[in-house]
Amino acid sequence: NIATPEQHAALAGLDRAHLIHPVAPWRRHEERGPTVLSSGHGVWLQDAQGRELLDAFAGLWCVNVGYGQESVVQAAVEQMRRLPYATGYFHFASEPAIRLAAKLVEITPASLTRAYLTLGGSESVDAAVRFIVQYYNNTGRPAKKHFIALERGYHGSSSTGAGLTALPVFHRGFDLPLATQHHIPSPNPYRHESGSDAAALIAASVASLRAKVAQLGAENVAAFFCEPVQGSGGVIVPPRGWLKAMADAARELDILFVVDEVITGFGRTGTMFACDAEGVQPDLMTLAKGLTSGYVPMGATMMSERVYAGIADGAPAGQPIGHGATYSAHPVSAAVALEVIRLYEEGGILANAQRVAARFAAGLAALRSHPLVGDVRCVGLLGALELVSDKASKRGFDPALGLADRLFALGYQHGLVFRSFGDHVLGFAPALTITEAELDVLFVRLCRVLDDAL
Ligand code: PLP
Repeated sequence: NIATPEQHAALAGLDRAHLIHPVAPWRRHEERGPTVLSSGHGVWLQDAQGRELLDAFAGLWCVNVGYGQESVVQAAVEQMRRLPYATGYFHFASEPAIRLAAKLVEITPASLTRAYLTLGGSESVDAAVRFIVQYYNNTGRPAKKHFIALERGYHGSSSTGAGLTALPVFHRGFDLPLATQHHIPSPNPYRHESGSDAAALIAASVASLRAKVAQLGAENVAAFFCEPVQGSGGVIVPPRGWLKAMADAARELDILFVVDEVITGFGRTGTMFACDAEGVQPDLMTLAKGLTSGYVPMGATMMSERVYAGIADGAPAGQPIGHGATYSAHPVSAAVALEVIRLYEEGGILANAQRVAARFAAGLAALRSHPLVGDVRCVGLLGALELVSDKASKRGFDPALGLADRLFALGYQHGLVFRSFGDHVLGFAPALTITEAELDVLFVRLCRVLDDAL
């Protein structure tokens, strides 16, 4: 019970003393203590001190169906009651896991015919890397061990995925990236010399991939990993056509094309998957977040028949492919995922996301003239503002100013949750259920935050 300020202080004390927070400055967090969230409904959160907050980031860009969806809760409860756990080992399976795999194959691009169900995005990426290594070993090309990804990319924090990630805090002190992990420039229209020339930016990205493969030798390169929109790197939205061009280049270069749709999957960018907007047919796809809308943990590593068959047929007959976990294909998570996908498709949630996207884009675009805003980026219900101290030179802010912390505190004060990347990019990814009236509230509050930060 945390009804009184004393009870809240006691709980915060336990947090400081015992709970290690993910991706946090541990000692600084101990000084500050937590904001304890206690309940949520739709896009609204309430914290333990009774403050109501509009969650403009859907948790961690995952609660796509919004908080408090009763049918999702029911799906979990019913599955827990009927069969809370079923292993996938020893030929066992559960009905929701089987149905979910089939559903994912149905809705993802046609190239993907098999689904491996994981515990979240990091494990989906880690499994993809392990499966790719196995694929080349089993198909007689064991030298193909090098992986290429994008600067500013984020692919989770498993011991291999964090090396594909190209954000310094995920490498520092962890001896990453590995010698087999390489990065090519991020396709950032705001920061690239080609500026608004989309064709030039796409050509530059393709040229970087080709040059990196040439440098390593195509016979040594396994795969190229990318996010269709770079999320944690600062919501970097490449020009339309970029994803297809990179997929085509990877195919030509004889390396696997792996698309990480952990954020962009399940309607975030306006189509069910970002690949759909450009007709991209990847070799592998990693999923999580919107798959269960954050109600329970689950992810998926989707693969093509070619990759599946290469692994399956190249392994010694009858021997297991040694990858799996106790909670792989967890039946409660699978039951939740099936209901969440039903809501996207039949509950009108994907349609709502498409309907309100124009209002979201207009709200962000209106802030372009704000003195702090250098760039506005947006696709579907995924957006960002890049703040600058000088619009002409695009100069950012001295990290010593602590702008991100200040903005976060102002957000709390004005009842708005968003995320900052580095010190100067604010990211927005509200639940796909958000209404136009709620978007209006979001932008009124955001204006107050920016004005107070001046
Ligand atoms: N890949 C991308 C693109 C992500 O954004 C994330 C998480 O933010 C991950 C992978 C890792 O997912 P998880 O946090 O579920 O492990």
